[in-house]
Amino acid sequence: MNRVAPAQQPLPRTVIFLDPAHGGPDPGAHLPNNLLEKDLTLAFATRLRALLASSGFTMVSTRDADPTVSFTTDQRAEIANHGHSNACLVLHATSSGNGVHVITSSLTPPNELDGPHTTVPWNAAQSASIPQSLSLANEIGLSLQRAKIPVILSRSSLRPLDNLTCPAVAIEISPFTSPDGDRTPVTDATYQQNIAKAIAAALTSWRSRQIPVGAAK
Ligand SMILES: [Zn+2]
Repeated sequence: MNRVAPAQQPLPRTVIFLDPAHGGPDPGAHLPNNLLEKDLTLAFATRLRALLASSGFTMVSTRDADPTVSFTTDQRAEIANHGHSNACLVLHATSSGNGVHVITSSLTPPNELDGPHTTVPWNAAQSASIPQSLSLANEIGLSLQRAKIPVILSRSSLRPLDNLTCPAVAIEISPFTSPDGDRTPVTDATYQQNIAKAIAAALTSWRSRQIPVGAAK
């Protein structure tokens, strides 16, 4: 890059889609302190949204409250895909495990030798984004490691992940067990904020590599 962007130039619009999983009649997992996963995913999404919005990202969410009716995974994917999201994060929480689990779809990218595909099956919509999704997962994993939060990267067939047309990962937050055995519950506000900060830092770094400054359409 030899071009120098003029000062004050706005960053290209980067849309981040957040899907706090569960909600309404679907409570998700039962967590310590009588907390439900649907409420924790919403609280965590609210933290993440505030950090990302202050870093200049445009935010789209499936929900910013507890809905009266559950969203289907198809509805969640439609909101993400219609919003032309640049990155999609599906958020879960659990009371087992240690640290953060970052999941990428197990679909395989389309084989270029097969020629251009005219139609992509709904259940394989994510396949074309797999290389970018893996790079996003890797960036988030590195940032969590730097924050000394244990992280597991894995791949799985998961909805709505498989139906998303953007680089996408599912993030499941778990309690934290320190090397000397001290356990921080997943409901701990400081712990959640540290995870959110690490994810926001990862997205900021990811954005700088995805979209060269000045390349806005
Ligand atoms: Zn869940």
